[in-house]
Amino acid sequence: MDNFFNYTLERLETVLENLGTKSYRAKQLFQWVYQRGVLDFYAMENLPKALRSALAQELSFEMPEVSEIVHSEDGSVKFGLLLNTGHLVETVLMPEKGRNTLCVSTQIGCKMACQFCVTGHIGFVRDLSAAEIIGQVMAVKRYARNKRITNIVFMGMGEPLDNLENLMAALEIIQEPAGLDFSYRRVTVSTVGLLDGLRSIAPKKAQIAISLNAVNEAGRTELMPINRIYPLRDIVAYVRSLKNMGRQRVTFEYVLIKGVNDSPKDAQALSELLAGVRCKINLIPYNASPHTRFQAPEDNAVKAFHDILLKRHFTALVRESHAKDIAGGCGQLGMKYLEGKR
Ligand code: SAH
Repeated sequence: MDNFFNYTLERLETVLENLGTKSYRAKQLFQWVYQRGVLDFYAMENLPKALRSALAQELSFEMPEVSEIVHSEDGSVKFGLLLNTGHLVETVLMPEKGRNTLCVSTQIGCKMACQFCVTGHIGFVRDLSAAEIIGQVMAVKRYARNKRITNIVFMGMGEPLDNLENLMAALEIIQEPAGLDFSYRRVTVSTVGLLDGLRSIAPKKAQIAISLNAVNEAGRTELMPINRIYPLRDIVAYVRSLKNMGRQRVTFEYVLIKGVNDSPKDAQALSELLAGVRCKINLIPYNASPHTRFQAPEDNAVKAFHDILLKRHFTALVRESHAKDIAGGCGQLGMKYLEGKR
């Protein structure tokens, strides 16, 4: 039986047509499920009875099972979600200034092998289906009923653009007005910079964040081997070339790692690299982990780096990572897999 959460509105319309029903029923189904939280076809009163039982035979509402909940001192909550293949996927809910941002995963493990990232050290296990991506949102929504999720960021485990088809289906369901009904402004896809995939989602399918993390090709290749295929210069050229962005801007993420990329010289080089590019810069102080050889930067190095960017008139923020104390911070998801391996 296939999973309802794999279906975009359009695909569901086709299913209904094949069942000999009018396609407008798809919208009704979406509203029951995503807006009213009803996960039982038999309870969908405005659908013909025969259709309800036909659907119940075709589609399930199976969701990942919440198997672990860990609360952070900063108010974030990490959910360990158990998939029906026995794998665990981690999702983090981060309350902040009137927002509740959910950080979702798109893969178990990752192929990108970024040297500083815990998930990168797991290696690739498998892609998540659209249903497993949407399942993360639905499972947290059910659990945290009193907190409305306002933003979704694809910054958990995996490289979203390496799972493009399922990502696109999930984005459609997330943004469909009869579905989860998020404006694309409240949805961010973070990527190492897979330009082919980026071209299919930028600029209107999501906000884009690109993980830069270095200021020259050699330095980036060392940290992020994917730089051999999608080098820094192509990424920056691509962002420069984006048209019709309106007020929208691409965000560059820059993980500050002690002694690797956090010197004032690096900050100068970054300003030169991005001179004249319409963008925002998020500086993320590195979250150290026993699984990598890198260290967190000193506070004064972070401040000095930030000040240089501000002096050059960049919009730059230091992003304090959430949920660090519960291994839910950026790049810390998936610790369990590594702990199991050791
Ligand atoms: N694959 C995507 C999304 C997942 S990583 C990407 O690379 O963008 C999300 C962000 O966390 C990236 O900017 C990444 O560089 C950063 N990151 C990874 N490991 C980290 C760590 N240990 N400390 C701080 N940030 C980290």
